[in-house]
Parts: sequence; C-alpha cells; structure tokens
Amino acid sequence: MDSKFLKIRNDFPILNQKINNERLVYLDNAATSQKPQAVIDEIVRYYQNDNANTHRSVHTLGERATEEYEAARGKVQRFINAKESREIIFTQGTTDSLNLVASTYGEENISAGDEIVVSYMEHHSNLIPWQQLALRKHAILKYIELTNDGRLDMDDAQKKITDKTKVVAIAHVSNVLGVTNDIKKMAQIAHIHNAVMVIDGAQAVPNQPVDVQALDADFYAFSGHKMLGPMGIGVLYGKNNLLNKMSPYQYGGEMINFVEKYQSTWADIPWKFEAGTQNVAGAIGLGKAIDYLTEIGMQNIANYEQKLVEYALPKLLNIPEITVYGPHSPKLHNGVISFNLKGLHPHDLATALDMDGVAVRAGHHCAQPLMKYLNVVATARASFYIYNTVDDVDQLIYAIQDAKEFFKV
Ligand code: PMP
Repeated sequence: MDSKFLKIRNDFPILNQKINNERLVYLDNAATSQKPQAVIDEIVRYYQNDNANTHRSVHTLGERATEEYEAARGKVQRFINAKESREIIFTQGTTDSLNLVASTYGEENISAGDEIVVSYMEHHSNLIPWQQLALRKHAILKYIELTNDGRLDMDDAQKKITDKTKVVAIAHVSNVLGVTNDIKKMAQIAHIHNAVMVIDGAQAVPNQPVDVQALDADFYAFSGHKMLGPMGIGVLYGKNNLLNKMSPYQYGGEMINFVEKYQSTWADIPWKFEAGTQNVAGAIGLGKAIDYLTEIGMQNIANYEQKLVEYALPKLLNIPEITVYGPHSPKLHNGVISFNLKGLHPHDLATALDMDGVAVRAGHHCAQPLMKYLNVVATARASFYIYNTVDDVDQLIYAIQDAKEFFKV
C-alpha cells in the first residue's frame, strides 16, 4: 500500500482516540468525512483574522472576506473543471442544491404529462424534490431498474428516457450499492431527447476525479462535508445558459440588482442564487479541503480506495453469514460496502462493531425505495476514505467475527 496514505491518518486529530478501549476505525465516510487539521486551522484563521460580511463592505476585512470567498469559488471551478466560476453556486449541501434545481428549473419547465426519470438507487435528496414536483405538476415520475448485481440497467434507461422526458436525475455514485454509474452515457441519452441531466455527485466528488464538462452535466450537486470540508456548505454547478434563464431560488439581500416598490431585478449568476449572508467560513474551509485533496491527487485517491476494496470485499464475502449488496467483483465496486449479517438487525451489528472501535452506519441510508427493491429493511455500511488502511479492514473483519460469536450467529 502507498506509504503516503498510511501517514494521512496523522493529519486527522479526531482519529487519534480510543473508542471502547480500541483504536478508532472510522468507516462512516459516506455519511460524513473527518476534517484534517489544515481545514480546522483555516476556519479558525478566517474567524480570527478576516471575518466580515462579503460583497457589502469596502473596509479591509470586508474586502478580504469577499476575496477569499470568491477565491474558494475559483478552487471549486477548477476542481470539477467548470468552464466559468459563475457556474458555481454555493449552497448548504447536496440536498439544498437539488432542491434549488427542482424548485427553479423544475418549477418553470415541467408541465402536466411531462416525465422525470430517476433510478431505484437514488438518495431521498435526489428523489423527494422530483417526486413532490411531479405531484405538484401532474407530471410522471419514472424509475430506471437495476441489474441483479445492483448496477443501473442501461437498456431500461434507453427505454424509460423518451421525448416526454424533461429531467433525468441520477446519482453519480450510489451511497448504498458501491457502484459508479455511467453518467456520461446517461447524459448523452438525456440530451438526445432534449432533457436536462441532473447529477447527484455527493458520493463521487470526494473519491474520484470529476469533470463536469467531460460528463456534459447540466447540473451537478455535491456537499463539502463528505470531502474533508465543513458541514453546511455545498455546491451546485449549472451550465451558465441554464442558470441565466432560471428564476431565483430565494429572495432577499445581495441577490438583487435594483429593488423598487413593486418590482425588482436580479443580480447576475451566481449571486442571483445566493440570497442573504452566506456560509463564508464554510466556503473557505471547503477551498482548503480542495487544496488538501488536490495535493494528494484525486486519481491517486480513487486508486488507493480501490486497493482497499480489493482487500476488503473478498474478506467480507468469505464470511458465509454475510450478504453484500451491489456487485461482488471488486473491479465494479467502489469504497462503499453495504452488507448484512444473517439473523442480526444491522443496528445491533453496528452497536457490536462500535464495541470494537469500528464506526459503521446502519439503517436505510436515506434510500427507502432501494431498501424495498432489495427486499431488506436496512443494511450495515462500511465506507472508506483516504485515512483508512488495511489495518482498519482487518479490525472490521475481526469485529464482525466477534459480533458473530457474541450473538451466536
Ligand atoms: N446524495 C447522496 C448520494 C448522498 O450520499 C447524500 C448524503 N448521505 C446526499 C445526497 C445528501 O447530502 P447532504 O446531506 O450533504 O445534503
């Protein structure tokens, strides 16, 4: 294993602790990542030295805060290869970004009888905004089926996306099944039918290189907190011709051009979509997280996580009482592994693993239609990030064996 990655753990102060007298093994990265000291320091530095409101004040602190906030936007632009920085809107997170698209673009472009296409593996964030829009507009919500091993059925996608489709909204990477979807192909299909392609990138941007131009994404959403940044900051990328035509999401300070008694005009993008005081420290912290990830290299991160999967997946599959959801071939599986231990509720399993210092998530993972599709109530989920190592995988396997013995599975 790459020795550089073995040292990364030292940059994360939270990992330097024991849980139930065991070394903490944090495998809940798909829920949120931990933060390196560099990001924590950057947020403190900003509040200690430069804090002011942005785009309002001509005094020095106001100018510094505005400069740093806009510099963070530039970092995001380069990180996902957007053509222009005005195509980057800061939001509260993926959920906020997707709600923005549904309640502006969706509200203005979907009519009765139009179709919106999602898949069975969507997180509620990329499902409920479209479901509720469809209900409001009397539009039709269609679901792309999955293959037996939990990948998107691309033949079904070809059938479901038609000239009636106005929006195709799909996760780039599933937060349950450990699959990366062929979102580029999906965008091609959507565009043949003049539909817009909305991509939920919450699980992709932290773990692999993402190029929104190469994908030909119309909208692309992700969260800062899953990629070493703080909570409460996220991004919506949108093609500028689409963003320019859309109405504002919220009304208030700083998103206007002129306000008169009975009418108003709007600021240019991206500020048209950033009403009120923004999470400036969050954006700057995210910028620092991007510096940190860029220094390691996103392709190196993807390769390293792949090695962890190649090590972990066969070990899990070797335990006869374990069911792994999603593809069983490590080549088709990324660093999110959902599983169940026969005869044990995943909450009990997660509690037992915690006794051995191992943090995994258990539940429906905000994907209830997927749980129903898989015919399970819930799963346990181990998800890897840059600071995890093969030792962490060994501790997970040890803890599962321990749980098996304890519960006499
Ligand atoms: N989509 C996916 C695929 C996710 O994994 C998550 C986070 N669990 C979200 C959307 C929502 O992200 P957030 O809670 O940061 O808005």
